[in-house]
Order: sequence, then structure tokens, then C-alpha cells
Amino acid sequence: MNAATKPSDPERLHLQPGDVLLVTDIQNDFLAGGSLAVAGGDEVVPVLNRYIDAFVAQGLPVYATRDWHPPGHCSFYEQGGPWPVHCVQGTPGSAFSAALRLPPDTTVISKATLQNEEAYSSFHGTDLDSHLRADGIRRLFIGGLTTDYCVLNSVKDARGLGYEVFVLADAIRAVNVQPGDGQRAEAEMTSVGARRITLDDLAA
Ligand SMILES: [Zn+2]
Repeated sequence: MNAATKPSDPERLHLQPGDVLLVTDIQNDFLAGGSLAVAGGDEVVPVLNRYIDAFVAQGLPVYATRDWHPPGHCSFYEQGGPWPVHCVQGTPGSAFSAALRLPPDTTVISKATLQNEEAYSSFHGTDLDSHLRADGIRRLFIGGLTTDYCVLNSVKDARGLGYEVFVLADAIRAVNVQPGDGQRAEAEMTSVGARRITLDDLAA
């Protein structure tokens, strides 16, 4: 297929007003060398950059979420939680990857900002839903880290709130605390009505 045939291909997905790209937790602590590095996490960054390009080209909004913990957050080992210290507010590990090309007008959503409360969904305890509604968003395109935690729980909440959801299958990676967690999460997202897509599904 040559490029000229793509725009007229009815099988391809056309981005439209009311769409948003939600880039999930592309932070240094979840990437190679980070305190909670996710296998293959770095591989999604160039793919997400291509999605960002597609949304920016259409004048569509880009949101970025970040895990944004205070010191001594309840999810850390020393507080009895399941994770090593990660994404402490303002530390280098909490910063977005320098390789991620977020547009200057990106809406940043910080989550799990309270010491005694964990949040795996980007909707939990944040103003994400009100931002989306103010922007007239109906369809969410979600990628990033991690498949089996923040992406999964954000997708479930988004569906519960009535949004149409597309999971960017080529731009997510799982923690896989238990083998197969990522695959089970992907199946669960499909079961709640989210559609899996890849870059090739987008109309040029
Ligand atoms: Zn966290």
C-alpha cells in the first residue's frame, strides 16, 4: 500500500475533535536506570512521540500523567507498601523522560500526591475528568506505563465515566509482578469495551 491510499481507507481510524492523547507515567524512575524500571519501558517513548505528532498535527490535546509521591509515600517498602521508593515529587526520577516530546501546552495530571493514599488510576483523586469534560473530550487514546497498573485502572475508570477508549497496544508495557499480568490486564481492558489499536490503525 502506498501512502496516498491511506487517507481514504475506511478501515483506518480518523482522529477528530473530542479526541485526547493520554500519555501515562513516562517518568525516569519507570525507565532504564530508574528505581522501578519497567522491562521495555524505553521502547514505548519513540512510539508515543509518533502518536504525539499525530495529535499535534490535528490540533488535538495531549495530556501527560505522572506518579507524584511525597517522601514516605504509603506505597514504598519502608512504609509497608509493595514498591521501592519511586517518583518522589521534584526528584530526577519523577521527571518526564527527556526523550518524550511533549508539546508545550500539555496538560499535566499528578496522581498519588497524598502520603497515605495510593492511586493507580489517573482519575483517582485528580481533576482529570473535569479537565477532559472542559476540553469536550469524548475519546481517550491511552498509552504509557504500566499496562497492569495505571493504564489498566485508568481505562476501567474512563469506561465507567462513559468515555470511548482506545488502548495504544504498541505503546504500553507491563510490570508483570506475576507472569502474565500484562496479558490479563489487556484482556480486562478489552472486556470493559476498550479497543486495542496500533499506529498502523491511524489514518495518515
Ligand atoms: Zn507510585
